[in-house]
Amino acid sequence: MELHLPERAEIIEVGLRDGLQSESVIVPTAIKLDIIHRLLEAGVRRIQVASFVNPRLVPQMADAEALCAALPTREGVVYSGLALNVRGVERAGAAGLKQIDIGISASDTHSRKNANAGIAEALQQVTAMATVARAQGMLVRAGVQCAFGCVYEGIVPVEQVVRIVDHLLSVGVDELALADSTGMANPRQMARMLDTLLPRIDVPLVLHLHDTRGMGLANLLIALQYGIHRFDTAFGGLGGCPFIVGAAGNIATEDTVHMLDQMGVATGIDWTKVAACTQTISALLGRDFPGKLYRLV
Ligand code: ZN
Repeated sequence: MELHLPERAEIIEVGLRDGLQSESVIVPTAIKLDIIHRLLEAGVRRIQVASFVNPRLVPQMADAEALCAALPTREGVVYSGLALNVRGVERAGAAGLKQIDIGISASDTHSRKNANAGIAEALQQVTAMATVARAQGMLVRAGVQCAFGCVYEGIVPVEQVVRIVDHLLSVGVDELALADSTGMANPRQMARMLDTLLPRIDVPLVLHLHDTRGMGLANLLIALQYGIHRFDTAFGGLGGCPFIVGAAGNIATEDTVHMLDQMGVATGIDWTKVAACTQTISALLGRDFPGKLYRLV
């Protein structure tokens, strides 16, 4: 069987946000900036740097504005921030970010825990956020969290995801993201989801895959064969959600880049330099991460 793989893939580093947000040891702004410089040096061109949320609830993200003010300006590099409400979008815009990442959970229960709103209300909020972001001239990436499964509700029906995606597209977004926040997707389910969704989508699709159950890179391989070539990854395989039991780890940037390299899919990224960033943060936090390759360099 011949594999049909894209020639290149785009990696979006989310370790500084999705990775660090649930860590109790606060990583100083200067170290985050050092990591960002080193990620750029490694060839990463898209970095989600922070979330604009309540600093009392997520102290790790309290330096979002300070971090954004110090970001190095580089040709072709796009920094983004995550927001959960209109206030967060406004903060990200004021901080100078050119892209905002917003989202909605496909699970009503997870949505209520994570965003304090059921799906119907969250859809209205997303519309308001996208409107504010566009007025500020920001690109809008809209994501569907728990698109494949929910620890509270089990498998999320594809029809539910379709309904949310249709709404997001009607609002007008620049990029769509599907998140397997719980790491419950399996490769066959991924194929079915893409069979259903891709014909409906007229903007680029990003996959955000957690590796909680060890299926992350298998799901990525299926997605590649559908021509998907944008992926969120986190150095070291950091990541999780405080409202998902056992949620642990995005697919690791260095592991993903290495696998793509080995298959001849170009990313422009030197995975050994990303692995070095993982070692720095691992030493700082005093623990090992789920990623594999950073242990080898
Ligand atoms: Zn995530």
